[in-house]
Amino acid sequence: MNKRVEKQVVIIGGGLGGLAAAIRMQHAGHSAILLEKRHQLGGRASVFTEKGYTFDTGPTIITPPFLINELFEFAGKDVADYVELVKVSPKYRLYFSDGTFMDYGDYEDNIEQIEKFNPQDVEGYTKFLKAAKPIYELGFEQLGSMPFETIWSMAKLAPAGIRYRAYRSVYGMVSAYLKDPRLRIAMSFNPLFIGGNPFTATSIYTLITYIEEKHGVWWARGGTHKLVEAMERLFKELGGEYYLNSEVDLIEVADSNRVKGVTTTDGKSYAADIVISNADVANTYMKLLDRKVFRKRNADGRYKRAKYSMSLFMTYFGVEKQYPDMVHHSIVFGPRYKELLDDIFKKKIVPDDFSTYLHIPTRTDPELAPPGCETMYACTPVANLDSGTDWKSKKEEFSNHILSTLDRRVLPGLLDNLAVKRTFTPADYETELNSYKGAGFQLQPLLMQSGYFRPHNRSRDVKGLYLVGAGTHPGAGVPSVIMSADLTTQMIFDDLEKGL
Ligand SMILES: Cc1cc2nc3c(=O)[nH]c(=O)nc-3n(C[C@H](O)[C@H](O)[C@H](O)COP(=O)(O)OP(=O)(O)OC[C@H]3O[C@@H](n4cnc5c(N)ncnc54)[C@H](O)[C@@H]3O)c2cc1C
Repeated sequence: MNKRVEKQVVIIGGGLGGLAAAIRMQHAGHSAILLEKRHQLGGRASVFTEKGYTFDTGPTIITPPFLINELFEFAGKDVADYVELVKVSPKYRLYFSDGTFMDYGDYEDNIEQIEKFNPQDVEGYTKFLKAAKPIYELGFEQLGSMPFETIWSMAKLAPAGIRYRAYRSVYGMVSAYLKDPRLRIAMSFNPLFIGGNPFTATSIYTLITYIEEKHGVWWARGGTHKLVEAMERLFKELGGEYYLNSEVDLIEVADSNRVKGVTTTDGKSYAADIVISNADVANTYMKLLDRKVFRKRNADGRYKRAKYSMSLFMTYFGVEKQYPDMVHHSIVFGPRYKELLDDIFKKKIVPDDFSTYLHIPTRTDPELAPPGCETMYACTPVANLDSGTDWKSKKEEFSNHILSTLDRRVLPGLLDNLAVKRTFTPADYETELNSYKGAGFQLQPLLMQSGYFRPHNRSRDVKGLYLVGAGTHPGAGVPSVIMSADLTTQMIFDDLEKGL
């Protein structure tokens, strides 16, 4: 248990990771102040309403839900008193470019459908899940909550890495078990949810498919922002303070190489014994940290050289029409898979074709749109800002192209009934969320950017500085950032115990 010596803690950024860390610090008896640049909390998980249509801007798939329960339990509360989590079925509908689709659901449903796609793959699917199970147990259950602070902690895993062939990609592993090209896509696309290319993300990330298989896909009743509101309420009840429209532009460091506080762009100073940055990791090190300290380590190079995730082109739209045959989560795949991913991740270009995740929350919660209407978003992976695309001039044409493709393929009548449309481009990820290169998920989930090789949750450069969120261990995604908050705060409690 941590020593109850009250420390002044400043959390930079109110994403899910920052909020979870703030709750844990405040509950542990410290005094937590959270500073958020934008006008609302949630970060990528924010919300807006237009003409009666309510749009969650980012995450919509929650799995596994027990991590959220654990956060509330830590604070002595029951999550059910704050937010309702409901299971979504099917997990997704996957529309392939040949006109077929698969409702990806529970094991038996999947077997039935795989049988129709390619009977020979039924056995392969079962074997694939069997192979993914120990990877999940190691990668998620053990390593996800383990701090990787020494190279030795990583080296000890080498035998397991070789045993599970972690050097293989997700697609490589899936292809070893499945033959049908559509099923290979169905079982391998998930790393995109955390910013990874299925052709280069380590096969350890097949654990995502296993998590969904074991724990299901969940949704916060009323939208993901209801989860954010629940966390905000809990933080306030615990006595935590937060300030919106408060962008930190400097993490101040004393000569003793210890954090002493932060200042915001409007000139306010906040003293701190501990600073937890939920801001983009590259920006934290390259922009926010007191230059007199950080330059010494010449670590800018590290963050410039790192490989960043793709970005996302978001089209939020409301339709004066209902689509009762559609499901809550769909992926509409374009004609190319590997080649498109090469364009996005390697060539960094924005081609005409695309694949998109279509979110229709009104299939579960009709009140998110006016009666008889649907709220939707299309989340389209695109190259990050390394593409040099002028999104300001391209966004109108690109969003129209996405909507007309959806109209033709899965949402007939969409264009004739369009009531609302808004976009959020890679350039917005940079300017609004301070994301380096406009990346949707910070660093890519590559083997050499995972575990010890990912930016550490405790800064090695400055005492009292800790990091939380998608850019640090264990990585991007709702479960990971909640886990990172647990890991980071546990490290802080241990450090305080040792008097560090
Ligand atoms: C469109 C989209 C869909 C997604 N879908 C899913 C999904 O379905 N399931 C899933 O598990 N994951 C999903 N993800 C990933 C998941 O949303 C993110 O990995 C996670 O929410 C990131 O949380 P975070 O704690 O890193 O903080 P972020 O959400 O990145 O928030 C960081 C906060 O810090 C603030 N900030 C930055 N700089 C400063 C500063 N200098 N001063 C003050 N504040 C600052 C920002 O304004 C922001 O509010 C999705 C992501 C996106 C973008």
